[in-house]
Amino acid sequence: MINFDLEEDHLAVETMVRDFAAKEVAPHIQENDSKKHFDRSILQKMAKLNLLGICVPESYGGAGMDYVSLGLACEELEYVDTSLRVLMSVHVGLNCLSLLSWGSDDQKERYLVPQAKGEKIATYGLTEPNAGSDAVGIQTTAVKKGDRYLLNGEKHWISLAEVADNFLVIAWTDLEKKKNRDHSGLSAFIVERGYDGFESGAMTHKWGIKAGNTGWFSLTDVEVSEDNLLGNEGEGFKIAMFALDQGRYTVAAGATGLIRACLDASVGWANERHTFGQAIGQHQLVKQMIANMARDYECSRLLWLKAGVLKNEGRRNTKETSLAKWVSTVASERAGSDAVQIFGSYGYSDEYPVGRFWRNSKGAVIYEGTREIHTLMQADYALGYRVDKPTRVSLPKYEKS
Ligand SMILES: Cc1cc2nc3c(=O)[nH]c(=O)nc-3n(C[C@H](O)[C@H](O)[C@H](O)COP(=O)(O)OP(=O)(O)OC[C@H]3O[C@@H](n4cnc5c(N)ncnc54)[C@H](O)[C@@H]3O)c2cc1C
Repeated sequence: MINFDLEEDHLAVETMVRDFAAKEVAPHIQENDSKKHFDRSILQKMAKLNLLGICVPESYGGAGMDYVSLGLACEELEYVDTSLRVLMSVHVGLNCLSLLSWGSDDQKERYLVPQAKGEKIATYGLTEPNAGSDAVGIQTTAVKKGDRYLLNGEKHWISLAEVADNFLVIAWTDLEKKKNRDHSGLSAFIVERGYDGFESGAMTHKWGIKAGNTGWFSLTDVEVSEDNLLGNEGEGFKIAMFALDQGRYTVAAGATGLIRACLDASVGWANERHTFGQAIGQHQLVKQMIANMARDYECSRLLWLKAGVLKNEGRRNTKETSLAKWVSTVASERAGSDAVQIFGSYGYSDEYPVGRFWRNSKGAVIYEGTREIHTLMQADYALGYRVDKPTRVSLPKYEKS
């Protein structure tokens, strides 16, 4: 039987994160956003609630909850602040879950455990000045010297670049394959901030997700040991795509929360603001925008929940996750734009949150696979050009402890 009800544990997570966001984040978000301030003190608070390892098994320092709980946390966080959902996306979705699935016992002990406990913060570095969607266009190299690798390159538009301790870095280990754009020449590495030759800085001109940290990092002859290679040499592309399956899921759940934030704000304003002798919510054209948000919220939520259930069951979900990410982010951009429209001139000012919602929504239509990349993916699935095969490594099925 299909059951659409959340379990008790889910409801508890939802309530906990909702309360946390309302109490600890909401009072400061508008100011942090306008001052472009990333509030580091929030990290300890999130760690205390076990959010930074929410779906990492307890044996690795996490809270041992399921992947649906991760989605619920992301939805509730982004209802209030996109930048904290981004933190969950890179730290938990892209990084911790990659270590959980691909890491050696030693790597899990050294990196996953402190990350899941929130003692260390982690992110993901694929994008470079010359290549985002086109992952094989990256230039970063990792040349083997004895039992070490020498990393050189530059990553940009990296969430938490100035905050994270650990970085999952995709680089070419086979330079012949690099010339031929053969993705089996790519590998994945764990790089620590303290390594010699590592530098980072901010992307200072960002106009969305301003309360979050986004930046660049560069690697100049950064030496790492073989123990820092995640998976096998040549599996970097698979790991990068695997990570995106988890990151995109968190983005989808977050965008769903953003649609709900737009809907709630719009409903409030539509009931309060009067024109031509009635509340603007009585005008059919305003109703249309609100109806779209209500529709998009329900559709987006069902799509990310479906992907979450597949993850819990240990089933491949690349197609479902891509669909959830595509539909929810495009809808959140529409919801943000329409929320500003409903607020009229008030929406065009920082005194109300809807302008921030709109600005923040746009990022998710770009990162973790642009709208166009997901459109192509879904077309290719429909046309039968793309068929997901089982992978050597998959996300561990959720086992309730
Ligand atoms: C706020 C923010 C945070 C980010 N955080 C991270 C992070 O933590 N780690 C990380 O690695 N990256 C991160 N990124 C980078 C992000 O993943 C890339 O920006 C994204 O993958 C797109 O790459 P690009 O910007 O190089 O655009 P391009 O790939 O150059 O694309 C430009 C345009 O061309 C279109 N296009 C490209 N190829 C095709 C095609 N085949 N068919 C049709 N259209 C196409 C795209 O859809 C887009 O509209 C972040 C970006 C932002 C904005």
